Amino acid sequence: MTWETVIGLEIHVQLATASKIFSSASTAYGAPPNTQACGVDLGLPGVLPVINQTAVEMAIKLGLAIEAEIAVRSIFARKNYFYPDLPKGYQISQFEDPIVSNGKLSINVGDHAKQIRILRAHLEEDAGKSVHEVNHTGVDLNRAGTPLIEVVSEPDMTSAAEAVAYMRTLHLLVRTLEICDGNMQEGSFRCDANVSVRKPGEPLGTRTETKNLNSFRFVERAIDFEVERQIDILEAGGAIEQETRLYDPDNDETRTMRSKEDAHDYRYFPDPDLLPVVVSAEQIEKIREQLPELPPLRRQRYIDVLGLKTEDADTLVSDPLVAAYFDTAVDASNSEPAKVANWVVGDLFGALKKYDIEIDESPISAVYLAQLVDRISDGTISGKIAKTVFEAVWEREGSPDEVIKNRGLTQVTDDSLIASVVAEVISENPDQVEQFKAGKTKVMGFLVGQAMKKTKGQANPKQINEALQKALV
Ligand code: ADP
Ligand code: MG
Repeated sequence: MTWETVIGLEIHVQLATASKIFSSASTAYGAPPNTQACGVDLGLPGVLPVINQTAVEMAIKLGLAIEAEIAVRSIFARKNYFYPDLPKGYQISQFEDPIVSNGKLSINVGDHAKQIRILRAHLEEDAGKSVHEVNHTGVDLNRAGTPLIEVVSEPDMTSAAEAVAYMRTLHLLVRTLEICDGNMQEGSFRCDANVSVRKPGEPLGTRTETKNLNSFRFVERAIDFEVERQIDILEAGGAIEQETRLYDPDNDETRTMRSKEDAHDYRYFPDPDLLPVVVSAEQIEKIREQLPELPPLRRQRYIDVLGLKTEDADTLVSDPLVAAYFDTAVDASNSEPAKVANWVVGDLFGALKKYDIEIDESPISAVYLAQLVDRISDGTISGKIAKTVFEAVWEREGSPDEVIKNRGLTQVTDDSLIASVVAEVISENPDQVEQFKAGKTKVMGFLVGQAMKKTKGQANPKQINEALQKALV
């Protein structure tokens, strides 16, 4: 009998509010240490926390998007522990009555779909950060009090690949909902991976929890390492200790951090400084009405309604900014959406990558891209000339129409002009014409090329080809 892997993830999603969850201090990333923590964040005597309404709304948004139950009354508790980056001596978190519970998220791994149950998603404040340097450690409290929603899955995943797919799906969802910037390097989206192994049919094994994984690759590596480590111990007759571990990317291994606390170690109790969070049915309905189109539906629309290839739909949907750009371009264009998609995933992505910029900084707006594609569709320019126009628009020479006009790039479609160019090519290349007539149809490419040259690339190669065929029979 082989071993079966069981994985449950706790994902910390940093909510994209301007101020902290219980104070008006800024949440902006990257300020000098300890310049953005106020008395409330530090727990100084005589101050009182006040809940940030936007954080509550963002939590409800997430809850609705994962089809969860929204608690009409949820409470905050104090989770007590000592840590240098936690000056209050407790973290405010929801324990017994979280705002979101019993949701679900569908993931795709390869070509199989699977539903992962979400046990709960609770609001809490982040702690500060210990900064380790040579011979000393400093504490930066800028992050203290930053709003988080912790999304706790059921142990429904059975491989590292499923765990990564789940994490990616949630990452895309929170960015689509615009409740998190998704920046993993800055810690806005990080994961604790709970892993155990068991023989099929047996009860759940003892788990370990590997903390603070802030990249998809690290999650995958940490799980793979942990599964192997646990199997080795169990096969040697040992037992797994329930503990908290950390992943060390430099050595690609997990290490013990501390033995695992149980809930009673934290001495949770309702925070007497905070009122229960009460949300009305109207408030929930208002938020439901404002939900954006969610990624699975958007993907289906791209395939079924817009007629995109599955790969293109997947690529466009995987980044909400890209999908928004594409939607705007399709709205502005008269061309087939598939043609617009081609230009986005082809030339536009190529240029964005080359200059290492994001799509919302693209010098070619969605409306300009639509105009460019339309000028190919209506025959004003050839696909080849369109590349030149694309580069010019990228260099901010103007709109596609302005570039076409100013540079005189309109396609040559005049039949008599094409006929005269074709006649010239035929008289100038008797050898190739001879070969063509002798059955070497390959030289047609050469002849078309000569004709295109004469029109400075401004003719339609298909039209040239047809005119040449006609002239040579
Ligand atoms: P705690 O809050 O102490 O970390 P929870 O009961 O909330 O404990 O569980 C945390 C996470 O651990 C959940 O995502 C859950 O799915 C996962 N989990 C629980 N038991 C196991 C297990 N035996 N193997 C793998 N994951 C587990
Ligand atoms: Mg936990």
